[in-house]
Amino acid sequence: MRRVTILGATGSIGQNTLDLIRRAPKGSYQVVALTGGRNIAQLAADARAFGAELAVTAHDDLLVPLRAALAGSGVEVAAGAAALIEAAQRPADWTMSAIVGVAGLAPGLAALENGGTLALANKESLVTAGPLLMACAQATGARILPVDSEHSAIFQALTGEDIATARRVIITASGGAFRDWPLKRMRAATVAQASSHPNWAMGQRITIDSASMFNKALEVIEAKEFFGFRPEQIEVVIHPQSIIHALIGFCDGGLMAHVGPPDMRHAIGYALNWPTRRDLPVEALDLATIGRLDFAAPDPARYPALGLAWQVMAVGGLTGAVFNAAKERALDHFIAGHIGFMAMADLVQSALDGLAGHPELAVSEITLERVQSVDHVTRQHMDMQVGRRAG
Ligand code: NDP
Repeated sequence: MRRVTILGATGSIGQNTLDLIRRAPKGSYQVVALTGGRNIAQLAADARAFGAELAVTAHDDLLVPLRAALAGSGVEVAAGAAALIEAAQRPADWTMSAIVGVAGLAPGLAALENGGTLALANKESLVTAGPLLMACAQATGARILPVDSEHSAIFQALTGEDIATARRVIITASGGAFRDWPLKRMRAATVAQASSHPNWAMGQRITIDSASMFNKALEVIEAKEFFGFRPEQIEVVIHPQSIIHALIGFCDGGLMAHVGPPDMRHAIGYALNWPTRRDLPVEALDLATIGRLDFAAPDPARYPALGLAWQVMAVGGLTGAVFNAAKERALDHFIAGHIGFMAMADLVQSALDGLAGHPELAVSEITLERVQSVDHVTRQHMDMQVGRRAG
C-alpha cells in the first residue's frame, strides 16, 4: 500500500488526484495528509471519506470550523503555514504538490526532504527556485515527476531517449479564452470572461493565466529548469484543439509528439502510476471525429506575457521569483478590478525592469528565504505601481 499526501487537495488538481485514488483497487493507497485553504467543507469531507491521518488548512482562522467538521472522525486537524510544512514532512511514498502559487514552494521542498516522490503540479516552485528544488531532490534521493500536461508529455516523449539528442522542445498552447478575440476587445476583457477556458477545466488563476499566456511563460521556464533545455531550444505553438501537448524534435529531424485528450487525469495518473502504466478513466480519442489539428505562431502583440519568459531565463537567478511574484500580484489586481487584462503584462514588464538592479537579486545561490524576500519586495513594488496608476 502506497502512502500518499495531497498538498492543495481541495483544488482542481487535488480533486482529480483524489478521483483517481477513489477509483483505484481498494487497499492501493493510504492517505497520510490532505491540505486545503478556505474550502473547509471539501477538505473535511475528503479527509473523512479517504480516512486521512491529518487534515490541514492553510488559514489559522479556519482551525475551529475544520475541527468542528471533523469532530469524532479520528482525523488529526491543524492550521497555518507551519502545519502545512509538518503535513508535507510526514513520511509518504508519493506527494502531490498542487497548492496554487509560490505558497506551494515551502511545503513542496519539505516533502522533497523526505526523499519520496513529488508529483509537481505547482510550476511556480520551479520558476522561482528550480535549482534549489533539483539540488534538494538530488541530495535526498527524492524523485520529481512532472504533472503539468506539457511537461508530462515531454517526459513521456523522452522516455528511452538520450536527452542529448533532443534539439528542440515544442510546447503547445490552446490560446486560452481570447484566442479568437481582436486585440482591442482583449483590452476590455472581464474577469468572468478570462475565467472560462475553451478546452481545460482548471482553477481560476491558471485559467486566467492561460488567457494571458502567463501560464505558458511559466511553463517555458519550467521546461528549462526541469529538463535543462537551453532557452533557445524551447518553442511555443498555438494548437487550439489541445490534443498534442508537447513535441520533442530530435537530431535526426524526427518529432515525437504526445497526443491525448485535454484531461488532467492523464498526466496525474501517469505520475501516480509511474513507472508503470495503468488504465485511466480518460476518453479514447477518435481522430477521425477530431478531423484536423491546427497550429499557429503566437502573436506577441496579443500575448506580451509569453516573451517575458526568455527575458527571465536570460538573467536567471532570482529573476524567476520576481517574475512569478509580479505575475501573481498583477493577477490579484486584475481579479480585484484594479487593472485591465492587458495591463498585467505591462506591469510585470515594468517590475522586471524596475527591480533589475535590486541588491536582493544579486546572489549566486537560491534559498527559500531569498525567494520569499524577493517575493515580498516584488509584491510591494507591484502594489506601488498599481497605486500610482490609480492615483
Ligand atoms: P486551484 O485554485 O483549483 O486549487 C489550489 C489549491 O491550493 C486549493 O486546495 C486551495 O485551497 C489551495 N490554496 C490556495 N491558496 C493557498 C495558500 N496560500 N496556501 C496553501 N494552500 C492554498 O488550483 P489548481 O488545482 O488549478 O492548480 C494548482 C497548481 O497546479 C498550480 O500551481 C497550477 O499552476 C498547477 N496546474 C494546474 C493545472 C490544472 O489543470 N488545474 C494544470 C497544470 C498545472 P482552497 O481551494 O481550499 O482555498
